[in-house]
Amino acid sequence: MDSYFPSSYEDSRVRFLSSLNLIRQKWKSTQLQTHPLKSFPDLSIDWLWAHAPKKETLVIISTAEHGIEGYVGYALMKVFIEEFAPHLDSENTGLLLIHGLNPWGMKHHRKVNENSVDLNRNFVFDGHFDPAINPEFHRVKDLINPQTRIQSFRIENIKFWSRVVKAIFTPGIATVTKAALLGQHHTPNGFYYGGTTYQEGTVVALELYHRALQEYQSVIQIDMHTGYGPRDQMSIIMSPLDSMTSEEASRRFNYPLVLKINAEEFYDISGDMAAYYYELRNKQFPDKQLFACGFEFGTFGSSLLARIRSLRAMVFENQLHWHGAKSESIAHQVCREFEELYFPAEKKWQEKALADGRQAFDGLLRAYQLI
Ligand SMILES: [Zn+2]
Repeated sequence: MDSYFPSSYEDSRVRFLSSLNLIRQKWKSTQLQTHPLKSFPDLSIDWLWAHAPKKETLVIISTAEHGIEGYVGYALMKVFIEEFAPHLDSENTGLLLIHGLNPWGMKHHRKVNENSVDLNRNFVFDGHFDPAINPEFHRVKDLINPQTRIQSFRIENIKFWSRVVKAIFTPGIATVTKAALLGQHHTPNGFYYGGTTYQEGTVVALELYHRALQEYQSVIQIDMHTGYGPRDQMSIIMSPLDSMTSEEASRRFNYPLVLKINAEEFYDISGDMAAYYYELRNKQFPDKQLFACGFEFGTFGSSLLARIRSLRAMVFENQLHWHGAKSESIAHQVCREFEELYFPAEKKWQEKALADGRQAFDGLLRAYQLI
């Protein structure tokens, strides 16, 4: 398993860069490009352009939009490069492989970037980072955004659960979920902060996506994520802007679990990457084909209890970042739980993640007649 799952950002990057030779065997003119972060030049977003002479279809694989999720993301990138790319037709199918959209978050095992921005809330199409999009946030901020130092895991846990029980009655689970996950543009130390300007990773991604639609007839994008959904089955997450229903996509891709990003099937998101990509296509490239999705590898599970545990892991990690903990060992406990939420250590989980990824790649590429 260790050959798939990297141990650090640097390890992952070295492995990714070394795949250049393998890709070049088929796509001779493959180019490696690098964008070092302005404030952290030893961290970079790296990508490979493997262009096809006939620009019919481009497959984009991207990782670490949510930094810490890039470890599992890289493992799936490796599966794609070694097991699927060799079967594609390099005459008419190109590749754009993006490693580490949020390298700072990946390096520091955080979901957000160096400015505490969740990149998947930062793809705001009209560029108006509206502070009014999530009015319910203020109703739940005591639950999700405590402003105190963590004194002990046990005591913090009791306090958390008492806030959860209160919130179940008012304002209710549905409101808590929506307010916590939608995104917001007014509280930088709060949950799912979407920023007030486009982030570096967002700008890099948008330039690449723009070029992809400009040059290719059809673009398929798969963005790697972890943390949401059932533990034993990866979910393919689709944008509500795609015209296919999730049932149609499930049949077409011969894959059992496909969900749309909406309150009924998943949860609402404002400023997510796939939605931006569809808007861009619709406005500027209406004659081009686009399918943009996420592979979302569930970790804690999808029961109410598991979802509350996920919420706790995120609340404590954010609290630790901003307010600290009484001791190193408490900090370690908080980080370990957060790590389990986005990069589970269990070998069985890792094997199943690879197996689900293989099945989904296979189904998707077959549906588009690429393999
Ligand atoms: Zn994610």
